[in-house]
Amino acid sequence: MKQILLVGAGHAHLVVLRSFSTQALYGARVTLVTPRASQIYSGMLPGLIAGHYRLDEVRVDVAQLCARAYVELRPGRVVALDPERRRARLDDGAELGYDLASLNAGSLTDASLAGAGHALAVRPFADFIEALKKAAPARVAVAGAGAAGTELAMALSCRGAAVTLYSDKPTMSPALAKRAARALRRSAVDFRPGMAVTGIEPGPVVIAGTSRQEFDLVVLATGAVSLPWVRGCGLALDDEGFVLVHDTLQSVSHPEVFAAGDCAALAAAPDPKSGVHAVRHGAVLAENLRKAVAATALSAYKPQKRALLLLSCGRRYAIAERGGWTAEGRWVWRWKDWIDRRWISSLRIRDAA
Ligand SMILES: Cc1cc2nc3c(=O)[nH]c(=O)nc-3n(C[C@H](O)[C@H](O)[C@H](O)COP(=O)(O)OP(=O)(O)OC[C@H]3O[C@@H](n4cnc5c(N)ncnc54)[C@H](O)[C@@H]3O)c2cc1C
Repeated sequence: MKQILLVGAGHAHLVVLRSFSTQALYGARVTLVTPRASQIYSGMLPGLIAGHYRLDEVRVDVAQLCARAYVELRPGRVVALDPERRRARLDDGAELGYDLASLNAGSLTDASLAGAGHALAVRPFADFIEALKKAAPARVAVAGAGAAGTELAMALSCRGAAVTLYSDKPTMSPALAKRAARALRRSAVDFRPGMAVTGIEPGPVVIAGTSRQEFDLVVLATGAVSLPWVRGCGLALDDEGFVLVHDTLQSVSHPEVFAAGDCAALAAAPDPKSGVHAVRHGAVLAENLRKAVAATALSAYKPQKRALLLLSCGRRYAIAERGGWTAEGRWVWRWKDWIDRRWISSLRIRDAA
């Protein structure tokens, strides 16, 4: 009997759990280590903040999925991985051995900015939502205007805050950036392109070059960095510290370790860090964990050439981009809402009557 260790209840592992719940995996005992028994879906987080969704509508019950998938849920957080000894150490000091491991533990928000401790990171999402509920800030700064920062700025504005969005560099295609800038204006977000946050002081006060401005809250949406224990574990990594994997999602240095989602980087051509790609990794990962247990040839992940990006704009309005094509409107929001609800609903297990 092989021992499989799943680290993190990220999107790819949710797909794996869904697969094992519909078709049980024989020949292996599977354990999932996760700090939380439920997971907030990032695609619906801006909608939750804007007030379009209730918490229970955007939350995945990981414990229930594990039970249906015959997977043992081990509450905790991996703090070290030793791929030579094939063991993982948890934050409570326990050690778990494995024959096959799969890492889908996501990424952290980049907090390298001076004074980042005076800001609130978006992750973990549950803590972020809790902090927003407690503080109800009236003046908010968002550092970082990628898709996540832009969506968050408009969502926070929709719930009544006066929002300033700082952007150090363009991160979107010109066509998408143009639509996003218009939507930010309509949402009354004070967008400051080309204005990098250089530091945060107690207050919190945002320093951007010679400008200083005080807020009630500063939110970090400064991009994804790799987890410290991943960086230090001895697996082959890319330049940014993400686990380098073949198209089978196996580590290029330790084939018994798989990695997917944000914490992985495909050696041939890394996918952008997004939930959409993590979900697509999940389908191949589920297949390959089965094949690895059965000792048959593994399948290859085929990157999508043109992924669909949907950007929610605070109110029930969204922008779409795929390849060179862009569009926007209420209908795009309804489309996004339908896709997001379908994803959440695919992870809910209903008993037959
Ligand atoms: C505001 C916002 C909006 C976004 N909107 C979208 C969107 O609309 N569409 C989209 O495609 N992407 C979106 N993204 C990006 C998306 O959230 C990430 O790319 C995606 O969540 C990565 O998925 P993942 O499966 O790699 O990991 P995650 O979904 O981040 O899950 C990782 C899990 O691992 C757990 N974990 C972490 N450390 C450990 C540990 N040491 N041990 C055990 N478990 C651990 C975490 O608790 C978490 O449950 C958004 C991001 C943000 C911040």
